[in-house]
Amino acid sequence: MDIRFDGKCAIVTGAASGIGLAIARQLAASGARVVLADLDSSKTEAAAQDIGHGARAFVVDVTKADQVAALVAFAQAECGALHLMVNNAGIGGPIAPLGAYDIADWLKVIDVNLNGVFYGMRYAIPAIKAAGGGTIVNIASILGQVGFAGAAAYTATKHAIVGLTKAAALDHATDGIRINAVAPGFIHTPMVDQGLDAAAQAGIAAKHALARMGEPAEVAALVCFLLSERASFMTGSCHLVDGGYCAQ
Ligand code: NAP
Repeated sequence: MDIRFDGKCAIVTGAASGIGLAIARQLAASGARVVLADLDSSKTEAAAQDIGHGARAFVVDVTKADQVAALVAFAQAECGALHLMVNNAGIGGPIAPLGAYDIADWLKVIDVNLNGVFYGMRYAIPAIKAAGGGTIVNIASILGQVGFAGAAAYTATKHAIVGLTKAAALDHATDGIRINAVAPGFIHTPMVDQGLDAAAQAGIAAKHALARMGEPAEVAALVCFLLSERASFMTGSCHLVDGGYCAQ
């Protein structure tokens, strides 16, 4: 990639797998010092080692505010400052109609997908401001634009991330912090590939105008663009990378 992040420090949550791993890989290959943050210690360490370029691993549960605060402090201590934050960690939750949606499942999806993004911004923003400015990208979804039967909790959180992104961008535009959201279509990651059989995947692929699901690197390319100075006039908006899913 011709976009460079030399001298920049980045945190990517949910970075041991799928889209987060692809984002961390592209950032590191483009000169950033990256802290990969995820739940599982060995998976996160292995991902950081595989990426190389001085990438670091940090174990975090994004539903725990104190752990997210510690993550930001770790990045500042390791790199001297924090410039870039990608709030990517998320879960799909079970598929069930809203009238039968399990309460504990609802609360879990809200906690990871929405509270986790809030905590990520809550602690990264003061650090990025102290560094003189930077950028944040929150990973939403096409299900932050349209609905999906059986996925009320996930759909609600992804719509909420779009609003949270706009509000945060307005709060911190004059602090030199740009904040955007990215809305992927269905992407081949463990979240989707392990949750859906081949027939279901074919049906979902057909819902995209390009008649396929996307790849993590195709999302990472947009995220890296938004994190870079190439996107210097972009803040408070949500950007689709969806193979035409929402165009129909
Ligand atoms: P993935 O392969 O399952 O990766 C998600 C990572 O986040 C996993 O390593 C997971 O760890 C981690 N994670 C889960 N809960 C966490 C927590 N509480 N704290 C820290 N880390 C946690 O999923 P993905 O498809 O790459 O999804 C990444 C993001 O993209 C999510 O926000 C998702 O909603 C969004 N997205 C995905 C798609 C898609 O089609 N794949 C489409 C649109 C948006 P464990 O594996 O140990 O649980």
